[in-house]
Amino acid sequence: MTTAVRTVGIRKSYGTHEVLKGIDIDVAHGEVLCILGPSGSGKSTLLRCINHLEVPDGGYAWVDGQIIGYALRGDVLQELPVHQLRQQQSQLGMVFQHFNLFSHKTVLENVIEGPVVVRRQSRDTAIAKARALLEMVGMSAREQAYPAQLSGGQKQRVAIARALAMEPRVMLFDEPTSALDPELVGEVLEVMRRLASSGTTMIVVTHEIGFAREVADRVVVMIDGEVRECGPAQSVLSDPADPRVRAFLSRFL
Ligand code: ADP
Ligand code: MG
Repeated sequence: MTTAVRTVGIRKSYGTHEVLKGIDIDVAHGEVLCILGPSGSGKSTLLRCINHLEVPDGGYAWVDGQIIGYALRGDVLQELPVHQLRQQQSQLGMVFQHFNLFSHKTVLENVIEGPVVVRRQSRDTAIAKARALLEMVGMSAREQAYPAQLSGGQKQRVAIARALAMEPRVMLFDEPTSALDPELVGEVLEVMRRLASSGTTMIVVTHEIGFAREVADRVVVMIDGEVRECGPAQSVLSDPADPRVRAFLSRFL
């Protein structure tokens, strides 16, 4: 298997609070990595460092062999100009807890926005692709609806279609079901399950242990800005070596 995402030594502090203490992770193409851990352990910050929404204080993230945010000039690493960084970021699909749809645009307009504005695709091309994606997430019937007219689960399925419309190299999910009413969680997880089985490379921060057990190839448990456990879902979730990981996971039993 080839490496899709690699982070080496990612560190991030806010003031004196060291939130990430050197994070090394690897994700192979087509692999699903679930990141678990208590609130405040640095999971969101790690995703934001991978796509350079936050600039790490140290360390680097590679996606398909490209260092995010930097380019080698000779043997010196230089920060990328903003337009090139935006181009790189557009290759990383991000799905947030709170959907972040454009509220004044319809479902269809939300999904074609990136391809038309960033990728300069024709509207017709973008619309054809958007409709296929909306079909995939079960939202075809609502393409003319506005986000306010949708349930949370529907909004999140549109947000997933919107991220996929950019044909990302990897999908990053930050607690995509945490803001949903319990009865709406399943429909979003079902879409994610389908994506995973179609070979999409995914990093998923979640508290859905059942999803992790069933879908993740590997699981990382972060505590206090460190990776405390990393391995196949089955062994990490059933038999963690680290006592703090044991204590964390026991809450879900
Ligand atoms: P998680 O996603 O695991 O809950 P976060 O990455 O959101 O954790 O946050 C890790 C820690 O970093 C928390 O203590 C949080 O308060 C702090 N933090 C996150 N973002 C900022 C910020 N922009 N400024 C200051 N502190 C932050
Ligand atoms: Mg978070």
